[in-house]
Amino acid sequence: MNNPIPYVLVTGATGFIGAHVVDELLRRGIKVKGTTRSLSKAQKMCQDRPEHADMLDFDVITDLAHPGVFDEAAQGVDAIIHVASPVTYNITDNERELLLPAIQGTKAILTAAKKHPTVKRIVITSSFAAVLDPAHLDDSNFTFTSKDWSPFTYEQAKSSDPVIGYRGAKKFAERAAWDCIQNETPHFDLVTICPPMVFGPVVHPVSKVSELNESTKTIWEVVSGADPLPVGRVTAWVDVRDVAFAHVEALLRPEAGNQRFLIASPEKFSYQLAADILRKEFSWAREVVTRGDEGAPMPEKANVDGEAVAKALGIQYRGFKDCVIETATQLRELHRREISS
Ligand code: NAP
Repeated sequence: MNNPIPYVLVTGATGFIGAHVVDELLRRGIKVKGTTRSLSKAQKMCQDRPEHADMLDFDVITDLAHPGVFDEAAQGVDAIIHVASPVTYNITDNERELLLPAIQGTKAILTAAKKHPTVKRIVITSSFAAVLDPAHLDDSNFTFTSKDWSPFTYEQAKSSDPVIGYRGAKKFAERAAWDCIQNETPHFDLVTICPPMVFGPVVHPVSKVSELNESTKTIWEVVSGADPLPVGRVTAWVDVRDVAFAHVEALLRPEAGNQRFLIASPEKFSYQLAADILRKEFSWAREVVTRGDEGAPMPEKANVDGEAVAKALGIQYRGFKDCVIETATQLRELHRREISS
Protein backbone atom coordinates (compact mmCIF):
# COMPACT_ATOMS: atom_id res chain seq x y z
CA MET A 1 0.00 0.00 0.00
CA ASN A 2 1.32 3.48 -0.81
CA ASN A 3 2.14 5.73 2.10
CA PRO A 4 -0.65 8.37 2.24
CA ILE A 5 1.80 10.93 3.74
CA PRO A 6 5.02 10.55 1.73
CA TYR A 7 6.44 14.08 2.19
CA VAL A 8 6.34 16.17 5.38
CA LEU A 9 7.45 19.70 6.28
CA VAL A 10 8.98 19.91 9.76
CA THR A 11 9.54 23.40 11.19
CA GLY A 12 12.14 23.81 13.92
CA ALA A 13 13.87 20.77 12.40
CA THR A 14 17.32 21.70 13.75
CA GLY A 15 16.06 22.02 17.34
CA PHE A 16 16.00 19.37 20.10
CA ILE A 17 12.51 17.93 19.50
CA GLY A 18 12.36 18.81 15.78
CA ALA A 19 15.46 16.75 14.93
CA HIS A 20 13.96 13.70 16.68
CA VAL A 21 10.76 14.19 14.70
CA VAL A 22 12.86 14.30 11.51
CA ASP A 23 14.57 11.03 12.48
CA GLU A 24 11.27 9.32 13.33
CA LEU A 25 9.85 10.27 9.91
CA LEU A 26 13.00 9.18 8.06
CA ARG A 27 12.99 5.84 9.92
CA ARG A 28 9.53 5.22 8.49
CA GLY A 29 10.60 6.05 4.94
CA ILE A 30 8.87 9.45 4.90
CA LYS A 31 10.63 12.23 3.00
CA VAL A 32 11.29 15.38 5.05
CA LYS A 33 11.73 19.04 4.28
CA GLY A 34 12.98 20.84 7.38
CA THR A 35 13.04 24.53 8.10
CA THR A 36 15.75 26.27 10.07
CA ARG A 37 17.24 29.74 10.42
CA SER A 38 20.74 28.35 10.06
CA LEU A 39 22.27 27.03 6.82
CA SER A 40 25.18 25.50 8.74
CA LYS A 41 22.82 23.57 11.07
CA ALA A 42 20.90 22.33 8.00
CA GLN A 43 24.15 21.12 6.44
CA LYS A 44 25.18 19.40 9.67
CA MET A 45 21.79 17.63 9.97
CA CYS A 46 22.26 16.26 6.43
CA GLN A 47 25.94 15.33 6.96
CA ASP A 48 24.99 13.39 10.08
CA ARG A 49 22.39 11.39 8.13
CA PRO A 50 24.20 10.30 4.92
CA GLU A 51 21.95 7.25 4.58
CA HIS A 52 19.00 9.62 4.07
CA ALA A 53 20.68 11.95 1.57
CA ASP A 54 17.80 11.75 -0.92
CA MET A 55 15.08 11.92 1.77
CA LEU A 56 16.04 15.07 3.68
CA ASP A 57 16.42 18.65 2.60
CA PHE A 58 16.04 22.07 4.19
CA ASP A 59 14.65 25.51 3.52
CA VAL A 60 16.42 28.28 5.38
CA ILE A 61 13.80 30.67 6.73
CA THR A 62 13.87 34.03 8.44
CA ASP A 63 12.10 34.75 11.73
CA LEU A 64 8.77 33.10 12.64
CA ALA A 65 7.26 36.55 13.03
CA HIS A 66 7.82 37.42 9.34
CA PRO A 67 4.58 37.28 7.35
CA GLY A 68 4.60 34.50 4.73
CA VAL A 69 7.68 32.86 6.30
CA PHE A 70 6.47 29.34 5.42
CA ASP A 71 4.65 29.99 2.13
CA GLU A 72 7.41 28.58 -0.06
CA ALA A 73 8.47 25.78 2.27
CA ALA A 74 4.94 24.31 2.35
CA GLN A 75 4.93 23.90 -1.44
CA GLY A 76 4.31 20.26 -2.42
CA VAL A 77 4.23 18.66 1.03
CA ASP A 78 1.46 16.29 2.18
CA ALA A 79 1.49 17.34 5.83
CA ILE A 80 3.24 19.63 8.30
CA ILE A 81 4.69 19.12 11.76
CA HIS A 82 5.09 22.58 13.27
CA VAL A 83 7.63 22.38 16.08
CA ALA A 84 9.32 25.80 15.89
CA SER A 85 8.62 28.25 18.68
CA PRO A 86 10.90 30.29 20.94
CA VAL A 87 11.91 28.42 24.09
CA THR A 88 13.93 30.74 26.27
CA TYR A 89 13.54 32.56 29.56
CA ASN A 90 16.56 34.79 29.03
CA ILE A 91 14.61 37.69 27.56
CA THR A 92 13.60 41.26 28.30
CA ASP A 93 10.33 41.57 26.34
CA ASN A 94 7.76 38.74 26.64
CA GLU A 95 5.60 40.02 23.83
CA ARG A 96 8.32 40.64 21.25
CA GLU A 97 10.48 37.62 22.06
CA LEU A 98 7.91 34.96 23.04
CA LEU A 99 4.26 35.78 22.34
CA LEU A 100 4.50 37.33 18.89
CA PRO A 101 6.90 34.81 17.28
CA ALA A 102 4.94 31.86 18.73
CA ILE A 103 1.53 33.15 17.66
CA GLN A 104 2.59 34.63 14.33
CA GLY A 105 4.62 31.51 13.51
CA THR A 106 1.53 29.36 14.05
CA LYS A 107 -0.61 31.71 11.98
CA ALA A 108 2.06 31.70 9.26
CA ILE A 109 2.07 27.89 9.07
CA LEU A 110 -1.74 27.86 8.82
CA THR A 111 -1.67 30.53 6.12
CA ALA A 112 0.95 28.57 4.17
CA ALA A 113 -1.08 25.35 4.47
CA LYS A 114 -4.20 27.15 3.21
CA LYS A 115 -2.29 28.05 0.04
CA HIS A 116 -1.28 24.45 -0.66
CA PRO A 117 -4.15 21.98 -1.22
CA THR A 118 -1.79 19.00 -0.91
CA VAL A 119 -1.53 19.56 2.88
CA LYS A 120 -3.83 17.08 4.65
CA ARG A 121 -2.90 17.59 8.31
CA ILE A 122 -0.90 19.87 10.60
CA VAL A 123 0.51 18.51 13.84
CA ILE A 124 1.59 21.27 16.23
CA THR A 125 3.97 20.93 19.17
CA SER A 126 2.11 22.79 21.86
CA SER A 127 3.02 22.27 25.51
CA PHE A 128 1.78 21.39 28.97
CA ALA A 129 2.45 25.12 29.45
CA ALA A 130 -0.75 25.72 27.45
CA VAL A 131 -2.65 23.33 29.75
CA LEU A 132 -1.51 23.98 33.29
CA ASP A 133 -3.40 26.07 35.77
CA PRO A 134 -1.07 27.10 38.62
CA ALA A 135 -4.02 26.90 41.03
CA HIS A 136 -3.86 23.08 40.74
CA LEU A 137 -0.14 22.61 40.23
CA ASP A 138 0.69 21.64 43.83
CA ASP A 139 -2.46 19.54 44.38
CA SER A 140 -1.48 15.87 44.21
CA ASN A 141 -5.19 14.90 44.04
CA PHE A 142 -5.68 16.81 40.80
CA THR A 143 -5.07 15.32 37.35
CA PHE A 144 -4.62 17.55 34.31
CA THR A 145 -6.14 16.24 31.08
CA SER A 146 -6.12 17.52 27.52
CA LYS A 147 -9.38 19.38 28.26
CA ASP A 148 -7.55 21.84 30.54
CA TRP A 149 -6.27 25.22 29.42
CA SER A 150 -3.96 27.68 31.07
CA PRO A 151 -6.00 30.55 32.57
CA PHE A 152 -3.50 33.33 31.75
CA THR A 153 -4.74 36.30 29.74
CA TYR A 154 -2.65 37.83 26.99
CA GLU A 155 -2.03 40.88 29.18
CA GLN A 156 -0.79 38.74 32.08
CA ALA A 157 1.51 36.81 29.74
CA LYS A 158 2.85 40.05 28.31
CA SER A 159 3.60 41.76 31.60
CA SER A 160 4.62 38.90 33.97
CA ASP A 161 7.92 37.03 34.24
CA PRO A 162 9.25 35.06 31.22
CA VAL A 163 7.88 31.74 32.55
CA ILE A 164 4.34 33.12 32.37
CA GLY A 165 5.26 34.74 29.05
CA TYR A 166 6.22 31.32 27.68
CA ARG A 167 3.02 29.71 29.00
CA GLY A 168 0.97 32.46 27.36
CA ALA A 169 2.89 32.13 24.10
CA LYS A 170 2.13 28.41 23.92
CA LYS A 171 -1.52 28.91 24.92
CA PHE A 172 -2.31 31.69 22.47
CA ALA A 173 -0.38 30.05 19.62
CA GLU A 174 -2.34 26.82 20.09
CA ARG A 175 -5.61 28.72 20.41
CA ALA A 176 -4.89 30.49 17.12
CA ALA A 177 -4.64 27.10 15.43
CA TRP A 178 -7.90 25.74 16.89
CA ASP A 179 -9.66 29.03 16.05
CA CYS A 180 -8.59 28.64 12.43
CA ILE A 181 -9.97 25.07 12.28
CA GLN A 182 -13.25 26.10 13.93
CA ASN A 183 -13.85 29.36 12.10
CA GLU A 184 -12.39 28.73 8.68
CA THR A 185 -12.85 24.95 8.20
CA PRO A 186 -9.75 24.66 5.99
CA HIS A 187 -9.00 21.64 3.75
CA PHE A 188 -6.64 20.14 6.39
CA ASP A 189 -7.19 19.01 9.96
CA LEU A 190 -5.15 19.62 13.11
CA VAL A 191 -3.59 17.66 15.96
CA THR A 192 -1.83 19.30 18.89
CA ILE A 193 0.62 17.57 21.23
CA CYS A 194 1.19 19.01 24.71
CA PRO A 195 4.31 17.66 26.43
CA PRO A 196 5.57 18.68 29.88
CA MET A 197 9.38 18.64 30.42
CA VAL A 198 11.05 16.77 27.57
CA PHE A 199 14.35 15.01 28.18
CA GLY A 200 16.59 12.63 26.26
CA PRO A 201 19.57 12.38 23.97
CA VAL A 202 20.44 15.19 21.61
CA VAL A 203 20.42 14.48 17.86
CA HIS A 204 20.42 18.07 16.57
CA PRO A 205 23.57 20.06 15.83
CA VAL A 206 25.11 21.19 19.12
CA SER A 207 28.84 21.66 19.57
CA LYS A 208 28.91 23.17 23.07
CA VAL A 209 26.85 22.61 26.20
CA SER A 210 25.99 26.33 26.16
CA GLU A 211 24.07 25.68 22.90
CA LEU A 212 21.78 23.08 24.47
CA ASN A 213 18.03 23.70 24.50
CA GLU A 214 16.45 24.77 27.80
CA SER A 215 15.25 21.39 29.10
CA THR A 216 18.53 19.60 28.29
CA LYS A 217 20.48 22.47 29.83
CA THR A 218 18.83 21.68 33.16
CA ILE A 219 19.96 18.04 32.96
CA TRP A 220 23.46 19.35 32.21
CA GLU A 221 23.25 21.48 35.36
CA VAL A 222 22.67 18.31 37.38
CA VAL A 223 25.41 16.41 35.54
CA SER A 224 27.95 19.21 35.96
CA GLY A 225 27.41 19.64 39.69
CA ALA A 226 25.03 22.59 40.11
CA ASP A 227 24.58 23.28 43.82
CA PRO A 228 21.83 23.48 44.87
CA LEU A 229 20.18 21.09 42.40
CA PRO A 230 17.64 22.70 40.06
CA VAL A 231 14.06 22.67 41.36
CA GLY A 232 11.33 21.58 38.92
CA ARG A 233 8.04 23.44 38.65
CA VAL A 234 6.38 20.16 37.63
CA THR A 235 7.06 16.47 38.13
CA ALA A 236 5.68 15.51 34.71
CA TRP A 237 8.12 14.62 31.95
CA VAL A 238 8.38 12.57 28.77
CA ASP A 239 11.25 11.15 26.72
CA VAL A 240 11.94 13.09 23.52
CA ARG A 241 11.79 9.88 21.46
CA ASP A 242 8.25 9.22 22.76
CA VAL A 243 7.34 12.80 21.81
CA ALA A 244 8.67 12.30 18.28
CA PHE A 245 6.87 8.96 17.97
CA ALA A 246 3.62 10.62 19.10
CA HIS A 247 3.97 13.39 16.50
CA VAL A 248 4.39 10.89 13.69
CA GLU A 249 1.58 8.60 14.88
CA ALA A 250 -0.63 11.67 15.22
CA LEU A 251 0.20 12.49 11.62
CA LEU A 252 -0.46 9.03 10.22
CA ARG A 253 -3.54 7.83 12.12
CA PRO A 254 -6.66 9.18 10.40
CA GLU A 255 -8.70 8.98 13.63
CA ALA A 256 -6.27 11.34 15.43
CA GLY A 257 -7.56 14.29 13.40
CA ASN A 258 -8.73 17.36 15.34
CA GLN A 259 -7.61 16.01 18.70
CA ARG A 260 -5.50 17.60 21.40
CA PHE A 261 -3.13 15.19 23.15
CA LEU A 262 -1.47 15.66 26.51
CA ILE A 263 1.59 13.40 26.61
CA ALA A 264 3.43 12.47 29.82
CA SER A 265 5.22 9.47 31.24
CA PRO A 266 3.32 7.72 34.07
CA GLU A 267 6.55 8.02 36.10
CA LYS A 268 7.20 11.31 37.91
CA PHE A 269 10.59 12.99 37.97
CA SER A 270 12.63 15.45 40.00
CA TYR A 271 16.17 16.73 39.52
CA GLN A 272 16.90 15.16 42.90
CA LEU A 273 15.87 11.80 41.43
CA ALA A 274 18.15 12.43 38.43
CA ALA A 275 21.03 13.17 40.83
CA ASP A 276 20.27 10.04 42.90
CA ILE A 277 20.24 7.86 39.77
CA LEU A 278 23.53 9.26 38.48
CA ARG A 279 25.29 9.07 41.86
CA LYS A 280 24.17 5.45 42.28
CA GLU A 281 25.18 4.48 38.76
CA PHE A 282 28.51 6.26 38.17
CA SER A 283 31.66 6.83 40.25
CA TRP A 284 32.29 10.17 38.46
CA ALA A 285 28.85 11.32 39.58
CA ARG A 286 29.61 10.61 43.23
CA GLU A 287 32.47 13.10 42.86
CA VAL A 288 30.63 15.74 40.83
CA VAL A 289 26.84 15.58 41.17
CA THR A 290 25.37 17.37 44.19
CA ARG A 291 24.01 14.94 46.80
CA GLY A 292 21.17 17.25 47.81
CA ASP A 293 18.41 15.58 49.79
CA GLU A 294 19.28 12.07 48.63
CA GLY A 295 16.30 9.72 48.42
CA ALA A 296 13.83 12.54 49.11
CA PRO A 297 10.19 11.70 48.28
CA MET A 298 8.78 13.07 45.04
CA PRO A 299 7.43 16.63 45.55
CA GLU A 300 3.65 16.85 45.88
CA LYS A 301 2.47 18.01 42.45
CA ALA A 302 -0.62 17.49 40.32
CA ASN A 303 -0.83 14.44 38.05
CA VAL A 304 -0.79 14.63 34.28
CA ASP A 305 -2.84 12.13 32.28
CA GLY A 306 -0.56 10.68 29.63
CA GLU A 307 -2.51 7.43 29.34
CA ALA A 308 -5.21 8.66 26.95
CA VAL A 309 -2.62 9.53 24.30
CA ALA A 310 -0.69 6.32 24.98
CA LYS A 311 -3.84 4.34 24.12
CA ALA A 312 -4.81 6.52 21.17
CA LEU A 313 -1.37 6.56 19.56
CA GLY A 314 0.17 3.32 20.84
CA ILE A 315 2.95 4.87 22.93
CA GLN A 316 5.00 2.73 25.29
CA TYR A 317 6.70 5.24 27.54
CA ARG A 318 10.42 5.04 28.16
CA GLY A 319 11.71 5.13 31.73
CA PHE A 320 13.38 8.06 33.49
CA LYS A 321 16.42 6.10 34.68
CA ASP A 322 17.53 5.04 31.20
CA CYS A 323 16.73 8.48 29.81
CA VAL A 324 18.88 10.25 32.43
CA ILE A 325 21.77 7.80 32.13
CA GLU A 326 21.83 8.04 28.34
CA THR A 327 21.53 11.83 28.32
CA ALA A 328 24.14 12.36 31.03
CA THR A 329 26.63 10.09 29.26
CA GLN A 330 26.11 11.94 25.98
CA LEU A 331 26.40 15.39 27.56
CA ARG A 332 29.62 14.50 29.35
CA GLU A 333 31.10 13.32 26.05
CA LEU A 334 29.94 16.54 24.35
CA HIS A 335 31.62 18.59 27.08
CA ARG A 336 34.80 16.48 26.95
CA ARG A 337 35.09 17.13 23.19
CA GLU A 338 34.30 20.81 23.70
CA ILE A 339 37.08 21.39 26.20
CA SER A 340 39.64 19.26 24.33
CA SER A 341 39.10 21.04 20.98
P1 NAP B 1 14.72 24.21 20.76
O1 NAP B 1 15.76 23.19 20.58
O2 NAP B 1 15.12 25.55 21.27
O3 NAP B 1 13.94 24.36 19.41
C1 NAP B 1 13.17 25.48 19.08
C2 NAP B 1 13.05 25.53 17.57
O4 NAP B 1 12.24 26.65 17.22
C3 NAP B 1 14.41 25.71 16.91
O5 NAP B 1 14.49 24.82 15.84
C4 NAP B 1 14.40 27.14 16.44
O6 NAP B 1 14.96 27.32 15.16
C5 NAP B 1 12.92 27.46 16.29
N1 NAP B 1 12.70 28.86 16.61
C6 NAP B 1 12.67 29.42 17.84
N2 NAP B 1 12.43 30.74 17.74
C7 NAP B 1 12.32 31.02 16.42
C8 NAP B 1 12.09 32.21 15.69
N3 NAP B 1 11.90 33.38 16.30
N4 NAP B 1 12.06 32.13 14.35
C9 NAP B 1 12.26 30.95 13.71
N5 NAP B 1 12.48 29.78 14.36
C10 NAP B 1 12.50 29.82 15.69
O7 NAP B 1 13.59 23.73 21.78
P2 NAP B 1 12.73 22.39 21.85
O8 NAP B 1 12.75 21.96 23.24
O9 NAP B 1 13.11 21.45 20.77
O10 NAP B 1 11.28 22.97 21.54
C11 NAP B 1 10.58 22.66 20.37
C12 NAP B 1 9.10 22.83 20.62
O11 NAP B 1 8.68 21.99 21.67
C13 NAP B 1 8.66 24.23 21.00
O12 NAP B 1 7.45 24.51 20.35
C14 NAP B 1 8.45 24.13 22.50
O13 NAP B 1 7.54 25.09 22.97
C15 NAP B 1 7.94 22.72 22.61
N6 NAP B 1 8.11 22.09 23.93
C16 NAP B 1 9.36 21.83 24.42
C17 NAP B 1 9.47 21.21 25.66
C18 NAP B 1 10.81 20.84 26.25
O14 NAP B 1 10.87 20.50 27.44
N7 NAP B 1 11.89 20.85 25.50
C19 NAP B 1 8.33 20.90 26.39
C20 NAP B 1 7.08 21.20 25.85
C21 NAP B 1 6.98 21.79 24.62
P3 NAP B 1 16.54 27.29 14.80
O15 NAP B 1 16.94 25.83 14.87
O16 NAP B 1 16.58 27.85 13.44
O17 NAP B 1 17.22 28.11 15.86
